[in-house]
Amino acid sequence: MLLDRFQREHTYLRVSVTDRCNFRCVYCMPAEGMDWMSREDLLSYEEIARLVGVFAALGVRRVRLTGGEPLIRRDLEVLVEALGRIPALDDIALTTNAHRLDGCAQQLKDAGLTRLNVSLDSLQPERFSQLTRGGSLKKVIAGIEAAQAAGLGPIKINAVILRGENDDEVEDLVEFFSQAPDVYVLRFIEYMPFGTRRHVTVPALELRERIASRWTLEPYGGWLGDGPAKNWKIAETGLRVGFISPLSEKFCAGCNRLRLMADGHLRTCLSDDGTPSLRDLLRGGASDEDLGAAIRAMVMNKIEGHQALVEGGKSFEGVMTRIGG
Ligand code: SAM
Ligand code: SF4
Repeated sequence: MLLDRFQREHTYLRVSVTDRCNFRCVYCMPAEGMDWMSREDLLSYEEIARLVGVFAALGVRRVRLTGGEPLIRRDLEVLVEALGRIPALDDIALTTNAHRLDGCAQQLKDAGLTRLNVSLDSLQPERFSQLTRGGSLKKVIAGIEAAQAAGLGPIKINAVILRGENDDEVEDLVEFFSQAPDVYVLRFIEYMPFGTRRHVTVPALELRERIASRWTLEPYGGWLGDGPAKNWKIAETGLRVGFISPLSEKFCAGCNRLRLMADGHLRTCLSDDGTPSLRDLLRGGASDEDLGAAIRAMVMNKIEGHQALVEGGKSFEGVMTRIGG
């Protein structure tokens, strides 16, 4: 078991495969001036698979590939297949902006991908392009449909709602995905400030009340494979809707996740920039036992939680694309 000093057990690992992205979402990255990781800094697929094997031996059961945009790293299905050979893993999932998903959904499914999350914050083509700084809504919808056709459902759609920017689309998103309630699960994520707070968080309770004023929300207890989301079902349409509320309903006390960054640093808490490197140990010839001992020590040092609030508090440290969301 991978325990920290607050007795939290860690069974879930997010793996960022690149810090680069074909989008520049306004809440995630600045328009320019990013300091990218160099190619030599990135873990190879072999190195990632080896480290994930060590995490699995310590009790990790679920892995999610993320980024940056994971689908811009070449031959991602090779990594998915390699992870599939680690017997202790129950789940190999992917979080993507879906811009390139159309061309590879079937390949990923065949390689053993078990679940898929797609980020989508607007259904208005122009606004979508503005929020992502250049993304095509049409391509993203094509990617989502390709994933559905490949049998990758139920697909979780993640929407970050920003006050005054896309908060008028909550009902539209519910209506759109209610057209196929067995295929999609819609989740609303609170905006978290990294460094400077540039947007306004809409608390989950406010979104829930808005949805409840138009539809009947019933608590949903079925397993959706997700940790912190609180899930509901819209009685009239059958759509499952989740709310992820790290700021307004902080869930650090039950946190079971770790984040392996693309350059091999281990981010034990999303908010904390203190990230020791596993890559240097790995490349320095450490055995799996050495790596396991180092991981245990790093996890033991995990901080209790973040200090950000819906308004004010302390911002998260670092850059989201480097950490992997
Ligand atoms: N590029 C992929 C994507 O967009 O799905 C994967 C990486 S992205 C960093 C992972 C998730 O983090 C996305 O769902 C995105 O909306 C979310 N995210 C990024 N910045 C955020 C922020 N400041 N607050 C809340 N969620 C954020
Ligand atoms: Fe790229 Fe995802 Fe960040 Fe958007 S949220 S800029 S798609 S990494």
